[in-house]
Amino acid sequence: MTSNNSRPKILIIYTGGTIGMIENPETKVLKPFDFTHLIDNVPKIKMLNYDIDNIQFDPPIDSSNMGINHWGQIAKAIEANYDSYDGFVILHGTDTMAFTASALSFMLENLNKPVIITGSQLPIGEVRTDGEENLITAMQVAAARNSHGEAMVQEVAILFENHLLRGNRSSKVSADNFNAFMSTNYPELARIGLDIHFHEEVLYRTDHKRPLLVHENMDPNVMFIVLHPGMTRSTLEHMLNTPGIKGVVLKTYGAGNSPSDEWFTTPIQEAIQRGLVILNVTQCVNGSVNSNLYDTGNTLARAGVISGNDITSEAAITKMMYLFGMGKTNVQVKKYLQYSICGEMTVKNN
Ligand code: ASP
Repeated sequence: MTSNNSRPKILIIYTGGTIGMIENPETKVLKPFDFTHLIDNVPKIKMLNYDIDNIQFDPPIDSSNMGINHWGQIAKAIEANYDSYDGFVILHGTDTMAFTASALSFMLENLNKPVIITGSQLPIGEVRTDGEENLITAMQVAAARNSHGEAMVQEVAILFENHLLRGNRSSKVSADNFNAFMSTNYPELARIGLDIHFHEEVLYRTDHKRPLLVHENMDPNVMFIVLHPGMTRSTLEHMLNTPGIKGVVLKTYGAGNSPSDEWFTTPIQEAIQRGLVILNVTQCVNGSVNSNLYDTGNTLARAGVISGNDITSEAAITKMMYLFGMGKTNVQVKKYLQYSICGEMTVKNN
């Protein structure tokens, strides 16, 4: 690691996404391109007084193709280079960025260096690109130190346009706005304007200094069930009986409500009795599950459905993958789902 006075050492991990794509002149379709093309389009990067190295996915991918193995690749790259760099910038497509940010927050235990994920809505070669600004600001955030000379950000965060957000609190909310990400249940970590204004009081800190521990095993046997009026018992039963499934993130209405009729509650109760773990997460973009507010929410709690409080869907599903991947029993998974592991939800840890 560099000393406080030396040039910050930043490792860029380029996975793909719009930021590095170019248009096929014949079909007009965007396809990922390599890192040299990307850096050639940001000559300003050389004005930063940083030591910058890069690793790239070969080939770079559209983030719709991102999967558990890719998360493992990113986590291993960070692990292998952890002691040699002050910070890490991951260039990633926006579509699944919030899932990757959430997954990495669980996979990188004891993280105390910045892992800043960014991308763009327009390719970096376009005249009006947001990619150049996002890349440069992400590097500055990754290099930033506080008044004690420590890394300012010691967690996985998403940098996009005007906001630095906690990774496992973020969701993509727009397919075309430059401000494409929001964290509706947790304050932004920094406001990006003329300056980068960090909100130090909300930055994640562990109360210990332990070596980085990387957990690569993520169990894919989890799924979303999204409630909608008109859902039938047979559809519900089909999904709850998916072969091999261990955990379900149930995306409910409002403050965690669901139908209270027998066609719905019986299959849910039976699934829980069979050992399925079900987590209640609201479909709303803001606010929290409150199982005590309505009878319809309380029914789920009585059946043994765990409340996800104000967790995002992205953090909920990746947290389940992580907990099952760690080999936890159903009872342990249920217990940890009620705790905040790395700032992903608002609960008292007692
Ligand atoms: N489809 C692209 C991706 O997620 C979109 C983007 O990067 O903005 O890779």
